[in-house]
Amino acid sequence: MTSSVESDWVSRFADEVIAEADRRAPGKPIVCASGLSPSGPIHLGNLREVMTPHLVADEIRRRGRECVHIISWDDYDRYRKVPAGIDEAWAEHIGKPLTAVPAPPGSAFPNWAEHYKAAMIDSLAELGVVFRGISQTSMYTSGAYRDQILLAMRQRAKIDEILGRYRTKAPVSKRETDEAAAEAAEGSGAASEDDGGSATGYYPYKPYCTACNKDLTTVTAYDDETTEMSFTCGACGHSETVLLKDFNHGKLVWKVDWPMRWSYEGVVFEPSGVDHSSPGSSFVVGGQIVKEVFDGEQPIGPMYAFVGIVGMAKMSSSKGGVPTPADAMRIMEAPLLRWLYARRRPNQSFKVAFDQEIQRLYDEWDSLAAKAAAGTAPPADAIAYDRARRTAEIELPVTPRPLPYRMLASVADITTGEPTQMLRILHEIDPARPIESLDEVRPRLDKATAWATGQLPVDQRTRVLDKPDLELLDSLGADQRRSLDLLLAGLGEHWSLEGLTTLVYGVPKQMLGLPMDVKPTAELKAVQRTFFVLLYRLLVGKETGPRLPTLLLATGADRVRVLLSGS
Ligand SMILES: [Zn+2]
Repeated sequence: MTSSVESDWVSRFADEVIAEADRRAPGKPIVCASGLSPSGPIHLGNLREVMTPHLVADEIRRRGRECVHIISWDDYDRYRKVPAGIDEAWAEHIGKPLTAVPAPPGSAFPNWAEHYKAAMIDSLAELGVVFRGISQTSMYTSGAYRDQILLAMRQRAKIDEILGRYRTKAPVSKRETDEAAAEAAEGSGAASEDDGGSATGYYPYKPYCTACNKDLTTVTAYDDETTEMSFTCGACGHSETVLLKDFNHGKLVWKVDWPMRWSYEGVVFEPSGVDHSSPGSSFVVGGQIVKEVFDGEQPIGPMYAFVGIVGMAKMSSSKGGVPTPADAMRIMEAPLLRWLYARRRPNQSFKVAFDQEIQRLYDEWDSLAAKAAAGTAPPADAIAYDRARRTAEIELPVTPRPLPYRMLASVADITTGEPTQMLRILHEIDPARPIESLDEVRPRLDKATAWATGQLPVDQRTRVLDKPDLELLDSLGADQRRSLDLLLAGLGEHWSLEGLTTLVYGVPKQMLGLPMDVKPTAELKAVQRTFFVLLYRLLVGKETGPRLPTLLLATGADRVRVLLSGS
């Protein structure tokens, strides 16, 4: 039904993935995958790792095909560094599996990985992302990958040879480049893990030390017949000999682990970040290893561009500059966040706005919603809108009366988010259809309130004056005085958003002796601008502010009278 004629990038990938799945494993559920490392807060950039396969899997399910979206939690990766804002005492855990590191202070979760996973799981539920989470700690420590591990060890010479094809002549600088890219990618730090080479030979498996639980181990010997493996620990000096066929306390190095899982899960689609795109990258090397060692196939793997953030200065000081999906959904509704990821092809970068830009974004969203409802949206825009607001399983919650975000933000700003005041103002916006409960404008109101009270810089907040600026009022000329009187005289009759809009634009027309329906001229516009500046100065003591009709409603008629007349 959804054919490629009018298709968006999601439909095109779905076509490709279905064709590929039918070739590889006909009749089986189609598998799309994401990998996330809960090494710290999982940020908005990493959300693309999930949203790209989510949207493709969702399209496949919309077409009635069975499709599983796996999220592999890389929680058996080593703890690499203590993030900003965490007690330096956590440095003693570097080298342990993320699930063996205590959770950050004050957390209710049993360990580091669970703490950061939990926040992401909540956000994914809010975003309507249906997935099957797979804990790599559970998989490795239960012995699920036993056969694959023994196979990789038997094939270690071949793996070493494949890796050798990509090792550069200057491995040190290459590694540094990888590490810098991995740092930039935050969550996908596994890309910089060593590939298993050491002075004692090449081994693709790295045990966590059974004494100190760190991965600073070196395998010193391995016997293919018996699976007897000896290792020493560079952290505590422990050395041990174990039978790998019975041992569940270590993992394959990343460049082998990833292709092993492609084969194990039968992954057909898995995107990766730009840090995985270079010639010796995990994705490229993995493509060789999955074929030559695990007898599997590399997934279709588009490379996605990074997602930037604008206007997060305030939060960055307290949270290490890493906004999470939950941070975004404090100021925007889930469908809007989905839309940002759905409307851009994975290789297009985009920015998530935490500053004033969010108001323009919401205007664009509302305008698209109106066009979609009227059936006049261009096909690709209509599809992106549809992907944003529902999945094959659910419709995402919407605000029953989606008033403009910029208006709600102004109301929240002026009232500092005080609910009774906000309801009074919103009730008066449209007398024909008064808002009786704030629930009618939720959750959008809550998001706009969080934005106005949490993101809007203090110097841009609006504070209505406590008492009239008598000095300014005394200095006004007769014309200015008359314009204020005209406004005050019209307040009662025009006390609604629409009415006040007519009034504030109408007073200058009256002053110029023009009819109310006159086309705006340059002269009229100049007089209007001067009039608006006067109102702002008298109401908020500045030359700009929220849109005047909203400001007047928010200020209340009695207070407007006092501030504009002096008594
Ligand atoms: Zn040790």
